[in-house]
Amino acid sequence: MYYQVEKQDGYYRIGSPENVFSYLFVGSKKAALIDTGYGFGDLKSVVRSITDKPLIIINTHGHCDHTGGNAQFDEVCYIGEKDIEVCREHSEASMRKDNAERAKNSMNYESGETYNGLPDAFDMEAYCARGTGTLQSISEGACFELGGVTLKIYETPGHTKGGISVLYLEKNLLFIGDATGMFVWLFAKETTDLETYIAAVRKMYDLDAAYYIGSHNPNPIRREELLRYIRAAEEADYEKGEPFESFFGMEYEPRVCALDGKTLREMFQSDFASVVIGKDKRK
Ligand SMILES: [Zn+2]
Repeated sequence: MYYQVEKQDGYYRIGSPENVFSYLFVGSKKAALIDTGYGFGDLKSVVRSITDKPLIIINTHGHCDHTGGNAQFDEVCYIGEKDIEVCREHSEASMRKDNAERAKNSMNYESGETYNGLPDAFDMEAYCARGTGTLQSISEGACFELGGVTLKIYETPGHTKGGISVLYLEKNLLFIGDATGMFVWLFAKETTDLETYIAAVRKMYDLDAAYYIGSHNPNPIRREELLRYIRAAEEADYEKGEPFESFFGMEYEPRVCALDGKTLREMFQSDFASVVIGKDKRK
């Protein structure tokens, strides 16, 4: 099967070969899905094989690897107001095509081998013709009662201006999308300044969640780790940063500014923390 579904304590983690996770919550009355990945595979069927309850879809932010599957669903997709435009840009046919072509040559970073990250029945033309889904803006404080599962929205800008995180109240878990992490991208035009990002990570810290769960790393983040992420942003110095070669955003000349002078070679160490900033984000 293209998607990997793993039952967690109180929710489902739905992973795809390109290392993007969506999260599904099933209450007694309704269900909710956080993020829809690139949407290369049939995510809707996977969700509907788990639950037939009325579905709420929440996008943590507008990037294509979080909203690409929106259009498979008839339901409204909630998203931060300031990310609606990003989502539109990231849903355009040209970007979809680039993403799918790249997925054909996905890389296993541990073995260095490439593999086709697209499902067998992938239809490029249909994929590129999909839009954003039906977007509806959502703001801080919005709350979804699914029946025994309560999801509360917090605005956590930085990675994108309209980024949101979702607190699962009963388990005290915060689902953060790409809002922070050991290698957070803060260089694109949809990114905020570093001060706004730092304030958002402080806010996450103050929420005192049991764990912080991102979209690309199956390992939950512990609260103390956020302090290192804050320090990485506070101490970031573009001039000393390591150039970051990427398929995306080379026009921003991104550099990795890692804590304590570490380099990208050390990024799999547990205490690695960095921000990836662009040349216009010099302090
Ligand atoms: Zn993102």
